[in-house]
Amino acid sequence: SAKQAGKGQWRFFSPDFYDSLRARLNIERRLRDAIEFDQFVMYYQPRVDMQTGQVTSLEALIRWEDPETGLVEPHKFIDIAEQTGLIVNVGSQVISKVCAQIEQWSRQQAKGIPVSINVSAKQFQKGGLQAELSAALQRHGLAPDMVEVEVTESSMMGDSDAISEEFISLQKLGIKVLVDDFGTGYSSLSQLQRLEMDGLKIDRSFTSELGKTRQGEIFFSAIVTMAHSLGMRVVAEGVETPEQARILKRLECDEIQGFYVSRPVPANDVPEIIAKPIKLAA
Ligand code: C2E
Ligand code: MG
Ligand code: MG
Ligand code: MG
Repeated sequence: SAKQAGKGQWRFFSPDFYDSLRARLNIERRLRDAIEFDQFVMYYQPRVDMQTGQVTSLEALIRWEDPETGLVEPHKFIDIAEQTGLIVNVGSQVISKVCAQIEQWSRQQAKGIPVSINVSAKQFQKGGLQAELSAALQRHGLAPDMVEVEVTESSMMGDSDAISEEFISLQKLGIKVLVDDFGTGYSSLSQLQRLEMDGLKIDRSFTSELGKTRQGEIFFSAIVTMAHSLGMRVVAEGVETPEQARILKRLECDEIQGFYVSRPVPANDVPEIIAKPIKLAA
């Protein structure tokens, strides 16, 4: 019991624990600065239709331009932003930045390609996401189908009523909702059916199995069949090789995203990337 453990408990907090706590507090403090001083930038990665080779969407992926250490990738700070609730502020900045960028592109070559935004469960739970997105779209003179929303499968779990209400209101507005990292969470089939998601993005851990194990293909093909019969599109994440792309085409996967097509790039490089024909497996 706690009483028995008593005064000795502090011993379990090793110097490592304090180091990591200090590191987290440090990141939290610097994240607050990042929000205040506008240090986030968005990179964009294309998603491609396997039939046509057209770019169907660009995923917006956040980076932190930390004046102390340079460009920081999200795995170093998104968890801490979630745990501290700062993700709500970060998420608002993402929405503004993306909409401003789409407006800028709408006057140039990257015209008309929707951008897919990663949204945290916290942003859904807070409510008002639809209102926030809709205001940002209006501010920049954009149609609702110019943005899509990605939610991880695990974040669909929580307060399912509040979350599904928010999904439905986004979709009513004309914003597509995709399940991210599909296969790593625990959504039930009935939940997928009830929420009428627009698409599933299969986690890259499954893509990396393709061509290595038979299980990988079996999983993908079962998901494709199920998704299509529920009217959802299937996107494979993390496609790195032509072999993976070839297998995915055979399995009737609708779209692919990954280093094989393009790495995430700064906004300025997007027009050039989408101007070139995208290489796809024959
Ligand atoms: P995600 O939404 O699943 O995004 C895909 C991640 O896979 C990105 O990592 C991307 O750079 C990486 N990736 C793409 N293609 C390949 C590939 O072929 N091979 C490999 N190994 N990786 C590939 P990134 O940009 O580091 O983002 C990591 C995660 O951080 C994202 O996973 C997403 O969950 C989160 N995230 C990124 N931007 C935002 C944001 O604006 N808001 C929120 N809430 N989360 C974000
Ligand atoms: Mg995503
Ligand atoms: Mg993903
Ligand atoms: Mg991920």
